[in-house]
Amino acid sequence: MTASAPKPEPLPPHTLRVYATAWPVTALGPGQRFVVWVSGCGRQCPRCVSPEMQPPDAGRDVPIPILARRILTVPVHLDGITISGGEPLDQPEGLNALLRTIWTEKPDWSIMVYTGYRLEEIMADPARREAVIGLTDIIIEGPFRVSLPSDHPLKGSANQRIVALSDRGRALLRQLNIHALPRFNAGLGAYNSPDMIIGIPPLGRDVCGSLSGKSPCGT
Ligand code: SF4
Repeated sequence: MTASAPKPEPLPPHTLRVYATAWPVTALGPGQRFVVWVSGCGRQCPRCVSPEMQPPDAGRDVPIPILARRILTVPVHLDGITISGGEPLDQPEGLNALLRTIWTEKPDWSIMVYTGYRLEEIMADPARREAVIGLTDIIIEGPFRVSLPSDHPLKGSANQRIVALSDRGRALLRQLNIHALPRFNAGLGAYNSPDMIIGIPPLGRDVCGSLSGKSPCGT
């Protein structure tokens, strides 16, 4: 009798370190969207707009099946999902698992991802490339630069690029009326920041003065 091969350990379910979620959000892409802000970013951009999301231990690990079920069962109509942070592409396996689930379960939803990485950097890294290519319709990419202000409602700074990665993404960008996009939504943040600005307020508009939270990164 020969010894049988040891049973392989089951793969641990993927998780995503999540700082906050909100829905329905209308300020971070077309239509009504579910937004996930992930925790963890090592970029240290001067005047980071979401420093509370920089620590990798901010927020909590959420198994993808639980996060996906929460997203897929919200009782309002949604047109898509936007992932921001923090740096979503520093968690490529969890991001890939989440986007793959959304892409499968909600094929009519558009998928957008904010990242501080350039598209060229993403394409050069197999895990990051697999996380978004073929799943994501629109990516807003590039590091946040406070010295390069932008008045575009979807860009934190002028150096960032909005790139369509699919036919649907190209169609959405062609149809997008940026003047009709709301500049921000207000919501409840996590932990000690009870209020948060969701989106990218217009230049010079002091919406943060009346709210104690910080804007989400948007990079
Ligand atoms: S602005 Fe965004 S990319 Fe830059 S340090 Fe903050 S969270 Fe990271």
